[in-house]
Amino acid sequence: MLKDIIKKFEKIAKILNLSEKVKKRIIEPENILDFKIELNGKIFPAWRVQHNSLLGPYKGGIRFHPKTNLEEIKALAMIMTFKTALMDLPFGGGKGGVRINPKEYSEEELEKISRDYVRFIYQNIGENKDIPAPDMGTNEKIMEIMLNEYEKLTGKKSPATFTGKPIEKGGIVLRKEATGLGGAIITEEIVKKLNWQAKKTKIAIQGFGNVGSYAALYLFEKGFKIIAISDSLSGIFNPEGINIKEAIEYKKAIKYLKGFPGTEEITNQQLLSLKTDILIPAATENVITKNNAKNIKAKIIIELANGPITEAGEKILLKNKKIILPDILANAGGVTVSYFEWQQNKENKIWSKEKVFQELDKKMKNIFNKVWQTSLEEKIDLRTTAYLLAVKKLVEKIKF
Ligand code: NAD
Repeated sequence: MLKDIIKKFEKIAKILNLSEKVKKRIIEPENILDFKIELNGKIFPAWRVQHNSLLGPYKGGIRFHPKTNLEEIKALAMIMTFKTALMDLPFGGGKGGVRINPKEYSEEELEKISRDYVRFIYQNIGENKDIPAPDMGTNEKIMEIMLNEYEKLTGKKSPATFTGKPIEKGGIVLRKEATGLGGAIITEEIVKKLNWQAKKTKIAIQGFGNVGSYAALYLFEKGFKIIAISDSLSGIFNPEGINIKEAIEYKKAIKYLKGFPGTEEITNQQLLSLKTDILIPAATENVITKNNAKNIKAKIIIELANGPITEAGEKILLKNKKIILPDILANAGGVTVSYFEWQQNKENKIWSKEKVFQELDKKMKNIFNKVWQTSLEEKIDLRTTAYLLAVKKLVEKIKF
């Protein structure tokens, strides 16, 4: 993963003819906190990577995952640097993690891990220094605990130091929905560009978790035909369209999508190669590879998951004239609303749902149109364009 992201950056560095010194300034993390947390005699490796602060305080989630490692955290931190730069947010990039399977531990044990984590990093974070958020395996409850520990240790109130908090602790409305919503807003924009009509546009979505389900719901409400959705167990398909509101209720009750009335069961592989206009991978990384890219029939692929297409897969897709909306743009709705939360806390205000939606809508459309236009002018694909704009912004700030 780290190699892939560096490769993407190297491609841009070549276009911009960047010196080795400048390249190093962007590739190398500025600071790495590498430590171990102990719980009941067991040791859990943990990290906070503060990748780049050229544009502002480090911003990025903390994940609790049994397979996470320093390489992965470094890669994710670097992606955050590009994402915040592209989205014109006053933030740099960071990421944190603990190698632990949160499903195997009680709430009390996770609270202890979370408090210990903050004890290791609290001198290096803060509302103008580094602003963590939830990621895989962490949630608003953990952010509340971490903020509480941070405020205890520093002796001052500082809600803007963590985003993704519960609303009553300074969190923001629509944060949960933000990533899916942002991706859906971009989907509507691209459909407009191609002069397609919502009700005639078919969409297949892989992954029906936080991101996939909100994207599906918003697009369904806008009249798009969602012909397939899936979770890790299986996919469901109806060429006439699935009622997403009912599918959400069904999944809540049954835990899986399988068996949803009026649909045919398909595999996650079959979903990817359906006859659809738009494909939205919203589950996990590396699902479109050199082995299945040739089977993809969708004209547009919107990367709501991080890194769902491998490099070899992408080559095939581009050769087949597919339009790929890259992750650093398509799933940036989450960090954008985190920025609103931070602003809201710093100004000691509470943003309304309307305001959050309007501002998110404005931001996503604005950056999408900038990327689209530049891609046409420069005759380069959307991913290269998005990285190019992000890297240019960083390079402008470098002073030696
Ligand atoms: P989630 O855990 O809520 O949902 C993931 C969904 O994918 C679930 O429905 C799960 O069953 C399904 N899934 C898991 N593995 C699968 C597989 N191998 N094949 C098919 N389906 C599978 O996670 P999420 O928060 O919705 O995140 C999804 C993706 O979006 C991840 O790549 C994440 O990094 C990315 N992302 C999330 C956010 C956010 O704000 N949550 C922001 C940016 C990017």
